[in-house]
Amino acid sequence: MSTLNQTLKDRNIKALILDLDGVVTQTARVHAQAWKRMFDAYLKKRGEEEGKDYAPLEIETDYREHIDGIPRYDGVRNFLQSRGITLPEGDPTDDIGEETVAGLGNLKNMYFQELLKQDGVDEYKDTIAWLQQQRSKGMRTAVISASKNCVDVLHAAGIAKLFEEHVDGLQSAEMGLKGKPAPDIFLEAARRLGVSPQEAAIFEDARKGVQAGKAGGFGLVVGIDRTRDAEGLKASGADMVIQEFPSEV
Ligand SMILES: [Mg+2]
Repeated sequence: MSTLNQTLKDRNIKALILDLDGVVTQTARVHAQAWKRMFDAYLKKRGEEEGKDYAPLEIETDYREHIDGIPRYDGVRNFLQSRGITLPEGDPTDDIGEETVAGLGNLKNMYFQELLKQDGVDEYKDTIAWLQQQRSKGMRTAVISASKNCVDVLHAAGIAKLFEEHVDGLQSAEMGLKGKPAPDIFLEAARRLGVSPQEAAIFEDARKGVQAGKAGGFGLVVGIDRTRDAEGLKASGADMVIQEFPSEV
């Protein structure tokens, strides 16, 4: 039996709560591409206006550190701060591309939607196969996402039925849940599944997501290392880090 499956047993885990983008579906890199397209064009334009050189967004460093796994507008604000830029917050109804936190976030979302339509959504086959095994053993399942596109992505990938519950960016905004690294979204998923945090395992590919799992006092926090960031995930508090889900039962 694999280490992961054994550990779930040893810790008496009853529910699995998985992050969507980067754990279940290969949408983390679609998000990263959309962010890079939006920010690089903005920094170039702003740099030309100010006679300054702003370093473009590096996915390996900037994206992981400032954007990955957190609500959209928080990502805009965080990254701009890293370049010494502060913009007015604006409003979610701001026009796409307006020079506000919300306007730039809305532009990123438009690019994301375009890429989604153009390329579709690929799921991670190892995750899906493993989840099906766990479901057949009676494990409870939920999926969470900071993204407001969660339901669209689940349906595009044809995997909505794998999860009993989902908590996404839309519901988080409505309920006033704090973004990761706060544990709110995972705690809400556990509450809906009717389990305590100690009875649930968290699966996350982003550093801030692992931190959120740790902060919530969950029974097990597993870092899913899809982008060679095992060290970053461990340093963020993951109990274990795996490259992919085990195929043996
Ligand atoms: Mg993720």
